[in-house]
Amino acid sequence: MSDQAAVEFQNVSRVFSMQHGSEAGAVKAVDNISLQIRDGEFFSLLGPSGSGKTTCLRMIAGFDRPTSGRILLGGKDVSDLPPYERDVNTVFQDYALFPHLTVGDNIAYGLMIKKTPKAERRKRVDEMLELVQLAGFADRKPAQLSGGQRQRVALARALINHPKVLLLDEPLGALDLKLRQQMQVELKAIQQRVGITFIFVTHDQEEALTMSDRIAVFSQGKIEQVGAPAEIYEHPATAFVAGFVGVSNLVSGEVAKRITGSEAMFSVRPEKIHLGATGGEDMFTANGKVRDVIYLGLYTRYLVELDGGGDLVVVEQNLKTTSMDVVKIKGQPVILSWKKEHIRKVGG
Ligand code: ATP
Repeated sequence: MSDQAAVEFQNVSRVFSMQHGSEAGAVKAVDNISLQIRDGEFFSLLGPSGSGKTTCLRMIAGFDRPTSGRILLGGKDVSDLPPYERDVNTVFQDYALFPHLTVGDNIAYGLMIKKTPKAERRKRVDEMLELVQLAGFADRKPAQLSGGQRQRVALARALINHPKVLLLDEPLGALDLKLRQQMQVELKAIQQRVGITFIFVTHDQEEALTMSDRIAVFSQGKIEQVGAPAEIYEHPATAFVAGFVGVSNLVSGEVAKRITGSEAMFSVRPEKIHLGATGGEDMFTANGKVRDVIYLGLYTRYLVELDGGGDLVVVEQNLKTTSMDVVKIKGQPVILSWKKEHIRKVGG
């Protein structure tokens, strides 16, 4: 990694003007974002639908332009460069493979455009097929591949020219959960092997936590927090981040005061809470009633209604308990306890 940021946003905004009948309106899709993405980083843009992630990606690629602010690639302002003159490539969710070309020719496409000699092309296609674990598939057509295999071809095609930055827009969105999880691991391994900066758009918090070196959490065109997965999860900067990444378990007002002595809003993660009283100076406790129990094999999720209002989700591993044991506690009063150090004060 070099010190130079691979991608930099300087006060970037993108406003779409809209016509509703005779009324004109404006959507601020991206609202004054400043951000630095490091060279060689696996960086995720995470946020709900409509929060501005794709618009950011499109502006890096050059398919869209900021209304104000600047975007730099490798320290260079690219505002006036068309997409094909930017050293970036994009992988889309729908693969966008050419159906009439073989896998090999799909992957070689960028090299054919550049008129790279045939022998060199074949060598690099073989390297790419190896990289995405599709050796031996060069002569198949896309229709003869599974969804996961097609996505790998799309990845190989985007990487063959060694772009400085690879943009990935929900690339695993069309895959079923098992394949998606397998591809997450593979994608991360491939990124580490090639050392290219990956910028990955997703609305799936687990996916972002699994793969990223750092994550930017988006809400309504703004970035709420940038940090490593553990930082975002353990120290959410805002109530929005606490709620969007993992289960929020937010407590405030009177109920918070009963527990901590202060009305300030705090969050506590479900896996930090124990069902049952655990004494000690360093513990907080809260009384409530178990409203719901969901047995999930490895662990059980409890929804506890706190005395005084509000709910807390509690997750416990089924180390000794069976499904029969856990459902019996539904409707029962409980005491919850957790270490004081596990609460996080969160802003509004
Ligand atoms: P998703 O996960 O659904 O793709 P997103 O976070 O990528 O969402 P964007 O696609 O960047 O969100 O959209 C941000 C906002 O800008 C939305 O309110 C969207 O409706 C609006 N928007 C995006 N493109 C346009 C456009 N071409 N014209 C008008 N509004 C647009």
